[in-house]
Amino acid sequence: MIAARDLSFAYPGGGFALKVPALDVAPSERVGVIGPSGTGKTTLLNLVAGMVRADAGALTVAGSDLATLDDAARRRFRATHVGFIFQNFALVDYLNAYENILYPYRVGLGLRLDAQVRDRARALAEACGIAHRLKSHPAALSGGEQQRVAICRALVTQPKLILADEATGNLDPETKEAILDLLFDRASDMQATVLAVTHDHDLLPRFDRVIDFATLRQPA
Ligand code: ADP
Ligand code: MG
Repeated sequence: MIAARDLSFAYPGGGFALKVPALDVAPSERVGVIGPSGTGKTTLLNLVAGMVRADAGALTVAGSDLATLDDAARRRFRATHVGFIFQNFALVDYLNAYENILYPYRVGLGLRLDAQVRDRARALAEACGIAHRLKSHPAALSGGEQQRVAICRALVTQPKLILADEATGNLDPETKEAILDLLFDRASDMQATVLAVTHDHDLLPRFDRVIDFATLRQPA
């Protein structure tokens, strides 16, 4: 599902640079990534999602060679194959929770919004315990509610790859377990691959494999 070789990326203007000699993740594998903040974990997820392009190296994700796709093709790739749960949720403030969940269908990347998708959005919201909040805008939602909206949005397209960036950081322990059960159950149903950055060591037994980011990246 993910094959990276000698990836390198630097933010424009110098500053932070990331080098990853090799990363391989098998289809349906659940991989956790741990490591200190500021070391490039989010940057790596952004590369794998096709949100940014590596400066050098090879990166194939879900059969797409991300190194050769232009920006528009990478956006289509992401809409079709990737569910991304952002560290800061990245909800759209002028849309309500329901519209946020369906956001991937608004952005005109070829995904078709039909009754089945709407049903799926409602069922996900129900399962995440936010069905009663669907008309609220992000500003009126608690952090945990916003996080659950973000999780529903990542799952609604039934992606082959789920990228989660500290996806449970704002949830109380009980909600966290319930949401993770849901996330992993859906991933199993869809035979989706999961690559999740987490600081929460209680969650590590849920993964097939845990990567320490320090061993993944090449020190600068
Ligand atoms: P982590 O997720 O491990 O905390 P990040 O990938 O978010 O690490 O960030 C790695 C480094 O890149 C940090 O030093 C951060 O300040 C820097 N960085 C992150 N985003 C940008 C950006 N858009 N422009 C410039 N530097 C950035
Ligand atoms: Mg991060």
